[in-house]
Amino acid sequence: MTKLENYINGEMVPPTSGAYLDNYDPSIGEVYSLIPDSDERDVERAVLAAKTAFPGWSNTSAEARHDILMRIVSLIERDLEALALAESVDQGKPVSLARSVDLPRAIANFKFYATAAMHTANESHDSVGQNAINYTLRQPLGVVGCISPWNLPLYLFTWKIAPALAAGCTVVAKPSEVTPMTAYLLSKLCSEAGLPAGVLNIVHGLGPKVGSAIVAHPNVKAISFTGGTKTGEEIARVAAPMFKKLSLELGGKNPNIIFADCNYEEMLATTVRSSFSNQGEICLCGSRIFIERPLYERFKKDFVERVFALKVGDPRESDTDVGAIVSKQHFDKIMSYIDLAKAGGGTILTGGRMSELPALAGGKRHAVDGTSIETSNVRFGEAPLPPAYAGGSDRLGGWFIEPTVIEGLPHDCRTNQEEIFGPVVTIMPFETEDEVLGYANSVRYGLSATVWTENLSRAHRVASKLESGIVWINCWLLRDLRTPFGGMKDSGIGREGGFEALRFFTEEKNVCVKLGN
Ligand code: NAD
Repeated sequence: MTKLENYINGEMVPPTSGAYLDNYDPSIGEVYSLIPDSDERDVERAVLAAKTAFPGWSNTSAEARHDILMRIVSLIERDLEALALAESVDQGKPVSLARSVDLPRAIANFKFYATAAMHTANESHDSVGQNAINYTLRQPLGVVGCISPWNLPLYLFTWKIAPALAAGCTVVAKPSEVTPMTAYLLSKLCSEAGLPAGVLNIVHGLGPKVGSAIVAHPNVKAISFTGGTKTGEEIARVAAPMFKKLSLELGGKNPNIIFADCNYEEMLATTVRSSFSNQGEICLCGSRIFIERPLYERFKKDFVERVFALKVGDPRESDTDVGAIVSKQHFDKIMSYIDLAKAGGGTILTGGRMSELPALAGGKRHAVDGTSIETSNVRFGEAPLPPAYAGGSDRLGGWFIEPTVIEGLPHDCRTNQEEIFGPVVTIMPFETEDEVLGYANSVRYGLSATVWTENLSRAHRVASKLESGIVWINCWLLRDLRTPFGGMKDSGIGREGGFEALRFFTEEKNVCVKLGN
């Protein structure tokens, strides 16, 4: 079985402990590779390597940094198919999604920051009357820590390390232990691209061991973290008294607000996507859908019909819409919320169960009304497997959940207040703009929101009143990497994206020069 390795000081190395953790393919529920069970000793080595590499890397010209980062881009492009497949095997997402969203975005992250490094400029202030000039230096912080989650593994990992490297920092990074494979493959590409030893170090392992050792290390000057709100709290508790810079991108419970005057077909198609892309495991998915009363019954019928038609299946099949849930633990969490919703009086309009996949259920999928539809038989393993894949099975025995739509719950129940992070949405009617704003803003989170209306004034009015870091009007997940990205309230602090991220990884210094006579 393939053993992943840490990437420290330019070398692929085993964990100091010699111990490994199981890594599962969630679509078959079986272990297919092993992850280093690293600890603070590996973090110590990685921080030392990064510290040693810092003077050289921070003094490398922006153009040279650009060239190396662009070589990494070329190598990701070369290996795109293998990386997309690896992401799908590791995470459970449809390979089509990895190919069309995750990998292109990882490439875009490197391109964006490789070029941004060459276009940064610092201000100067002519202090007229004081016979002085002030200018701002933005100098790289030193060694920084980047910690990422399992839902968009390479996409979010590179969203952190690309700006850190472009800014001239050296990095100790930790991908999620649930989805470490593409970060491991990336470390090999970084070596091949000629990234100098120690500039990027990747330590695999558990959050409370490896992640917390990175956060607590006195030589790590900043933490860029994406993950759950509870973990963010813990990181802030440790890092804040050490006065580290913190960027925390945390959970969400995003509203999708649909007014009756919307462009119906576009709204419907996009709402299916914004609810169930990546099995609903995108922090920006809209999980609370509010529909203006006159449109409610029509929307409910059409939406449920479209959701029911989604194909849950082998992530490697090109026509699969919804793949596997990332882990057994997360599967159990989502199912427990479905139970909670039922116990709270919610009506399951479609889904609500572990998916009975064709390979397991004899070619039938069941609707909640008891009817069944025939689906094609799915066989696992028709697509070529990535190099690291050593398993193989003719069954899909993993963790699949039918896309689930629930109605009849109040906006303030736990199902509508807590993050589920799976293929589960609720639908609720509303009468007025003020009412729906009250519902939308009633949660502790404030990451993203979607508004559907053709009324221009209303669109802007509602956007300005939503407590949300990002508001999409008549669209979803349209991303321009120049824009500030982040959440309000318990969805985090700080903004990533654009020049914000480069500023985060630098320390500003004002230099005041008194001019001579
Ligand atoms: P998580 O918080 O459990 O883990 C995220 C990372 O933190 C992992 O690498 C983990 O090993 C590490 N970690 C865990 N405990 C740690 C500790 N004590 N110290 C340091 N590091 C530690 O989150 P997850 O389950 O991997 O991801 C899902 C969550 O991420 C959801 O809440 C989702 O909304 C959120 N998310 C947010 C965004 C965003 O941009 N706001 C994007 C994607 C995911």
